[in-house]
Amino acid sequence: MDRYKKVKIYKTFLFLTILGTTSGQFAKGASFPTDDDVPMVTGEVERREDDQELQFKYHDHEEITRYLRAVSARYPALTALYSIGKSVQGRDLWVMVVSASPYEHMIGKPDVKYVANIHGNEAVGRELLLHLIQYLVTSYDTDSYIKWLLDNTRIHLMPSMNPDGFLISREGQCDTIHGRHNARRYDLNRNFPDFFKANTKQPQPETDAVKEWISKIQFVVSGSLHGGALVASYPFDNTPSARICRSSVLCSVFQSYAHTPSIAPDDDVFRHLALVYSNNHAKMSRGVSCKSGSQRFDNGITNGAAWYPLTGGMQDYNYLWHGCMEITLEISCCKYPPAHELPKYWQDNKQSLIKYLAEAHRGAHGFVMDENGNPVERASVRVKGRDVTYHTTKYGEFWRILLPGTYRLEVSGEGYLPQEVEFFVIDSHPTLLNVTLHSAKRIDGGPYYRPGPPPPRPPPAPAGIFSTITKSINSFVTNLLG
Ligand SMILES: [Zn+2]
Repeated sequence: MDRYKKVKIYKTFLFLTILGTTSGQFAKGASFPTDDDVPMVTGEVERREDDQELQFKYHDHEEITRYLRAVSARYPALTALYSIGKSVQGRDLWVMVVSASPYEHMIGKPDVKYVANIHGNEAVGRELLLHLIQYLVTSYDTDSYIKWLLDNTRIHLMPSMNPDGFLISREGQCDTIHGRHNARRYDLNRNFPDFFKANTKQPQPETDAVKEWISKIQFVVSGSLHGGALVASYPFDNTPSARICRSSVLCSVFQSYAHTPSIAPDDDVFRHLALVYSNNHAKMSRGVSCKSGSQRFDNGITNGAAWYPLTGGMQDYNYLWHGCMEITLEISCCKYPPAHELPKYWQDNKQSLIKYLAEAHRGAHGFVMDENGNPVERASVRVKGRDVTYHTTKYGEFWRILLPGTYRLEVSGEGYLPQEVEFFVIDSHPTLLNVTLHSAKRIDGGPYYRPGPPPPRPPPAPAGIFSTITKSINSFVTNLLG
């Protein structure tokens, strides 16, 4: 039996297995989604006015909750609602799935996400995600592109990661930081583990919920929606030099690093992703500064650290810990503009929001299986020359967004012989790559192959050039300090 046949049969088997198990899990009301399913936590269903027509106004937490429940009741075949946890003050961190297969992960098809309102006073993204939900569910039957997207992608949308901060924010406040933090006054976008610098901030419930969420579902691409600027910012946000500058009197020595890009191994892909958002936006790509004297960005994109370095950001964490390519989308010069401006923001961002998610279908994806056609979970998948390791899901799936070109894939798994595969990526459609790993134990009873130690599991981020850079700069500083 050839490997493709095995994969097909395997996929069919798994699909049936999932269908057979999910209903029981829903009935039990499990509280956390996995790769397999999205448990329902909608509680009683309320049908209100909002499911017919979503107004352009700011919705408070209760209104959002009602709206999401109403949509999930009205579009049960296209949506599933779940909560990944609660904020400090006990508000649900809602996620709405929009997909032709909302309740289960479609094996071989990518999961993608947007997270908005991580800064409570940056409110536009929160409303745009509600409108995105509305647009997707109402366009499925009439728009062939949306139908294709929802048939082939599972889209997870979190309108607010910081509902407590939003509560104390005020409409019309463009530049203040009131409401930015969570209820314990932590900046959630400085609260994630950091590769370049140990993050000593106390982990917050909102951050912990997101960390658990993205460890359970392999997201392929993601966008984090912010306000206060108009730019698509991509990893890295942090840099080895920031590590020194913030912990030493030698800060001034390293000031020249302040606006130096911190280049990720997939810099070309991140720049492309940022440009997809910027170029599909009504005005972001013009790179016009928000107000006179403020920074302008060529083509509406920037490397995060080149703008300003930060520690504990969500986008670096998504990429280095979980192989999810996240960028930060600053979508409004005013953080909390008057509600009557919301239609304009929706029109400006609609095309970008949709086209960006479709980028999950670029590059290479496939399965890593053993000789018997069984999936190999947590196999290491590396593109030669790119010093970052992705891992396969429990179904052996992997996704690697890449621009057109020729690449070599290095695949290894504990107890298996490493494998290298050359492949091409073209622009028009993704490359399907199925890799078979052979057991390191020889069938003829000969000597055993002894693989090296398995790669570290998260939280350790992939080692490589970054650690080399960090170490060399550290030793430089050590020498300076004597
Ligand atoms: Zn922000």
